[in-house]
Formats: sequence, C-alpha cells, structure tokens
Amino acid sequence: MSFLICNTWRVAKGRWSNNPSRSMTGGQKQRFFSMPPPIVFRGQLVLPDHIVTGAMLVRDGRIVEILDLAAVVPDDAVIVDAGDGYLSPGFVDLHVHGGLGGDFMDGTTEAFQNALTAHVRHGTTRMAITTTVARHEQILATLQLARQFRKSPYPAGARVLGAHFYGPYFRYEAKGAHPGAAIRPAISEEFEQYLEFADDLVTATVAPEIEGAKEFALACRERGVRTNVGHSWATFAQMEEAVDWGVRHVDHLFCAMSDKTRLRQFQMYPMQGGVLEATLFFDDLTTEVIADGKHLDSGLLKLALKIKGSDKLALVTDCSRALDMPDGNYMIGPLDGGEPLMKKNGVGQMPDGLGLASSVEGMDHMLRTFIEYTGCPLWEAVKMASLTPARIAGRDAELGSLERDKVADVVVFDRDLNVKRVFIDGGEIKLY
Ligand SMILES: [Zn+2]
Repeated sequence: MSFLICNTWRVAKGRWSNNPSRSMTGGQKQRFFSMPPPIVFRGQLVLPDHIVTGAMLVRDGRIVEILDLAAVVPDDAVIVDAGDGYLSPGFVDLHVHGGLGGDFMDGTTEAFQNALTAHVRHGTTRMAITTTVARHEQILATLQLARQFRKSPYPAGARVLGAHFYGPYFRYEAKGAHPGAAIRPAISEEFEQYLEFADDLVTATVAPEIEGAKEFALACRERGVRTNVGHSWATFAQMEEAVDWGVRHVDHLFCAMSDKTRLRQFQMYPMQGGVLEATLFFDDLTTEVIADGKHLDSGLLKLALKIKGSDKLALVTDCSRALDMPDGNYMIGPLDGGEPLMKKNGVGQMPDGLGLASSVEGMDHMLRTFIEYTGCPLWEAVKMASLTPARIAGRDAELGSLERDKVADVVVFDRDLNVKRVFIDGGEIKLY
C-alpha cells in the first residue's frame, strides 16, 4: 500500500466494529459523487484462487489494495463490513435476455431498466444484453438501446457491457424455444448494418453450417467482435472450420446443439461428433452452462467442469423476462413476434411442457446450484461467474476479480450466499 495517498492513516485494529455512522447509504453516495471518500470493505474476500479474511481499499471506484485486517486505513474511509459474510467480485453475465417482465428485444427503455434492476439484485454488475431472433428493425432498435445504455448507465441497475448478438443466424431445426419465423441466412447487406455497432458488441452467435456463416464470422473478426457457435447442428468437421474462422466460444453447452446421436439421423456410419464433442475437444473454445438445476443435472455440470476447467467454463443465466415474476405465461423475445413461454417449477418451459425455454433465475442462484451440484469450491464457482466471463468478453484487465487496479464491482453476501449489498464502480446500488 502507498502512504502517499493519505497521511492520516492509523492502525485499524479495534476501530472496525460496526459503526452505523461510518456505513455508507445511497444518500451519502449521492452527496459524495464528485469526491467520494475511500471505502474499506471488510469480510471474507473471494479472490480468484482462494478465500481470505481481510480488507480491501477502494478509491475513486478502483481497488487500490488488498489488505489484512490489521492494516492501517485512511482516516476518512467509509467502512463496509460484511462480518463473516463474503465479498465477491460483481458477476458478469454473457447470456441474458431479460428480467422483471422486460426482454431486451422489447426494444424499450423500460424493458432494459426492468431487466437491469432485477439482475443487480442477484449480484450481476455487468451484462452482455442478449438479442434473439427477430425482424431486422427490431434487432437494430435493441442494438441502439444497448449503445445508449452502455454509454449512459442506468444508475439503479447492472451496467450494460454491450450486446450479445444472438439470432437470427441459427439453424432452424436447432432454434429451441426461440422464434423461428425470422431465422435467416447471414447476408452481408444485412449483417453489415449490425456490425456498425461493432463497438457495442461483446459477442456474436452463428451456426457454422448456415448460408453466409463464414462471411459473417470473418466480418466479425475483422471488426474485433468475438464469435460464438450456438443453436447449431454442425458436425465436428464444420466446428473445426469455424475455429479456423476465429470462433472462440460456444453458447449454453449441451443445449440446442448437435452430438453424435443427433448426427446419426443424417449419416449412419461412421458416427461423427457434433458441436458438443467439438466443444469438449478444442482447447481454443470456451463455453458456458446454465446451472439453474433444471437445464442440466449434476453429472453434466461435473463433466463440463472436468473437461473445460473453470478458466474456460462460464456460468450464465440465459434468463428470460420471467425473473422475479410469478409463475405464469410470458414471451421469449419481442412482445411483437416472440414465442410463448411458461414459468413453472423454477424454469421457463414451452407451453406444451415438452421443452425448456430459458431460465428464470439470477446469477446468485446459478452460483449456489453449481456449488451444490458439483462440489466445487466457492472461489472457483465465483470465478466462473466473474473473471472467466470477463476474460471471454475481453474485459478481464479491468473487471471480474478483486484485484489491485480493477474496477470496484463488489457484491456483499451472507454466509448462505444471499446478496446483501452491491457496489458498481465503488458506488452502492440501491436494491429495489
Ligand atoms: Zn439459446
């Protein structure tokens, strides 16, 4: 730590008890907006490879230092004491469609605000808002809003990292619960308009076997947009080609993808692997799981963790607008042109109950479930919800872990991993 930044530090021992006058409220945060005081977080710090009892000094929205409890702290510091609870980096969600009644494809400010407000309550601080299959102008409207929210963050919610361009370049038969009518080939006259938002795109999904997929993937690479494979029945050989085009990530492992059994419908022998086997095989490919306890059982989650490892496997919510809403009927995708979904038994289902249609849970639920189902340590599951997705998004230099010089996105959890407080850029977000 540097003694240059404050000349009034003193030994902290004995003065870090819960003193209400030193705890920060939303009102205080507003008053200190121009010159915020330093903050000292105290509790069980969840670091990228272990958990330690300690403290963390934050100044001007950045982590300055990880400290031990006996360290000196600035005299004017605000203390955020988690007690025996945990301090975790804010979660980064690469695949999320909405929440609190709003789907990003609604293309309205209100839908964005609702979803961002809902997810921050569950510990997500940064989101790649995810589009889905829709008409051209609907996708453009959502990308426009993503740009607007990225540049002018909504103060009461999670921050928009950018957009995950997802659909309409799916294989029709692999569309899952997504609207099918607007699935189409990747035509450059169209996708060039999407790529005008390249700075706002975190990732873009394409099924490698559809017409125009290669052109789209190469155009994305040229503009610096990462590409994913998703909603695809590609063969192993087609996946190998896609890796050559620059594809580096695969959406929701095990869901809406080909495997040996699926591809045997088309070729009896020799049997061939599909997206699933290729994702497990290629070290260049990262992937993600929906760990809501409904999409995948514990065996599949353990398999994914064993083969890919926690540096290449992210937790995502793939959450629909039904987050924090009662059971009932909703829409996946835009209200105008989307597909019906039914929230029941803690998951989104197709109305006939014969298929799954997105999750209805936030990232805190995914974290708890992943730990319960795989037995992996808390720090490792947290990494999969923060540092690993931040790295996949190319933002790990500043986001995703409690480390010096990173942005102070911090979640305060109790011992049971319930979210108690959330800070973004060092400022506390009021949880509605
Ligand atoms: Zn999907």
